[in-house]
Amino acid sequence: MHADHSIPPPTPAGAPPFLMLILSSPSGAGKTTLTHMIQERFPELRFSVSHTTRAPRANETDGVHYRFTDHETFRAKVQSGSFLEWAEVHGNYYGTSMSEILGAEEDSDCSGIIFDIDYQGARQIRARIPDVVPIFILPPSMVELERRLRGRGSEPEAAIARRFSGAKREIANYALFDYLVVNDQIDRAFETLASIIVAERSRRSRRAGLAEYLLRHDVIVPDHTAISS
Ligand code: ADP
Ligand code: 5GP
Repeated sequence: MHADHSIPPPTPAGAPPFLMLILSSPSGAGKTTLTHMIQERFPELRFSVSHTTRAPRANETDGVHYRFTDHETFRAKVQSGSFLEWAEVHGNYYGTSMSEILGAEEDSDCSGIIFDIDYQGARQIRARIPDVVPIFILPPSMVELERRLRGRGSEPEAAIARRFSGAKREIANYALFDYLVVNDQIDRAFETLASIIVAERSRRSRRAGLAEYLLRHDVIVPDHTAISS
């Protein structure tokens, strides 16, 4: 991790500065779908792989979607301070390992990291990394949220009901986020997200390093190129 996130290191002109994004939403609002679209458009942004005590779903691979772990291993990681943040969500434990950020920052092909985490994790990361960009995905209505949760067909009824009842609690914490993106039409929601990413790269705090770097490097213009008045 950079020692001080308020002073970015100079990045070569044209290279995007390192960006940390939080993507949160009530379960079923479309975060996973949007995350995949972001990864396609912005392959230089890495998706942080969380640890979880939840059982894998049929389409999930260990080390790709999550690092599936037992309670004992999770607890040991909490106690050793290995997590940047962790929380209990829908009866399971989830956590972001510090090594996720370190790995992304050390990878020269990577210019940022996306944390797909809940509002409790967002609160913890905001407190530790003030320049993180927290984004919350809203469903257009509660009726549509329930329809999407059922339509996904990946969980039993009890799990769906639990996630739906947690949605209001998630939405109640919207003030933790700087951007609220409505996922009504998927393409429109995605373009909004993409605009946020592009705009955040140009934020002064992220480009200040380059501006300061330019100020320290003079170019000597040879006499014969001088324009005579
Ligand atoms: P989350 O990761 O937030 O739980 P998903 O991305 O898994 O949500 O989306 C839940 C379901 O809703 C999926 O079946 C997905 O295809 C569908 N979905 C996502 N966005 C839209 C949208 N804008 N319109 C209709 N269905 C959507
Ligand atoms: P799911 O079980 O549907 O994959 O995820 C359930 C919820 O846990 C989602 O809101 C997801 O964003 C959140 N989550 C996933 N990984 C983490 C994590 O590392 N930390 C926290 N705080 N929440 C997470």
